Amino acid sequence: MSEKVRVRFAPSPTGPLHIGGVRTALFNYLFAKKHGGDFLLRIEDTDQNRYVEGAEAYIIEALNWLKIPYNEGPGKEGNCGPYRQSERKHIYRKYADDLIESGNAYYAFDTAEELDAHRKDHEEKGKTFIYNWHNRQKLKNSLTLSKEETQKKIDAGEEFVIRFKSPEKENLHLNDIIRGEMHVDTSILDDKVLFKSDGMPTYHLANIVDDHLMEITHVIRGEEWLPSLALHILLYRAFGWTAPQFAHLPLILKPTGNGKLSKRDGDKMGFPVFPLQWQPAEGEMFSGYREDGYLPEAVINMLAFLGWNPGTEQEIFSLKDL
Ligand code: GLU
Repeated sequence: MSEKVRVRFAPSPTGPLHIGGVRTALFNYLFAKKHGGDFLLRIEDTDQNRYVEGAEAYIIEALNWLKIPYNEGPGKEGNCGPYRQSERKHIYRKYADDLIESGNAYYAFDTAEELDAHRKDHEEKGKTFIYNWHNRQKLKNSLTLSKEETQKKIDAGEEFVIRFKSPEKENLHLNDIIRGEMHVDTSILDDKVLFKSDGMPTYHLANIVDDHLMEITHVIRGEEWLPSLALHILLYRAFGWTAPQFAHLPLILKPTGNGKLSKRDGDKMGFPVFPLQWQPAEGEMFSGYREDGYLPEAVINMLAFLGWNPGTEQEIFSLKDL
């Protein structure tokens, strides 16, 4: 690999870090270490409705306990904080505007009630409503309104979102280090919101802009983001940027195999799903590996062995070995 490897762990502070998230952080850290690269922590806190008090501090404490250090962020070298998208919110709007300028995004003025009515109307006909090329011509947006009408609405303070204009019909080629080659028919994609009416970017826009500005070379994240890969690749293309390489990690499933390991599964099975104990503002306490007396090294070893084995008899690996 010629360019310097740069990876990131980008949790949203919507709750405590789950061991699935710790595993994603671990894989990123190990990948950076192996290639002499950088490992960044980026808190993706643009969704104010889902923000949970204390979640960011929990994430940092858990990574510290597990000795998975990130080596870059704002602040003093060697003592830096994580990047926080809420502190970078002045950056994103310009990029949404650039996409409008280049014809890859547009303003949409439809209210939640209007969109609900469209959904209902489609449902009654046995169809699913998708805000895309198929329907956007019938809706209230800057593709159907004149430039003057659009400007008038904005000047009048009418609420709007900025949507990505996904291609009508294209067989989009995607590549994932783990999954290999995939194809997506873009005609089924909806025009995702990039910028919300509350003045905040959505996850998709902020994530792509930051990965680009932070010169991330490899995006290693949970498989739940695989369905977003097509949009992300389209966004890189619309900006004219080179996309990083992607690796979507299989999720840690429930012992029964049906679905992602949830908060409650661990306690039912007699092992925690959280590195540290967690008490939501209201509600029961969930146990954590630290408080249950497990050593961080043992947790790392356990996580490394989920979905991997070295092909030898060796069962104990330190972070350094890994
Ligand atoms: N903020 C997203 C999450 O919490 C990050 C997804 C990604 O790594 O791109 O899962």
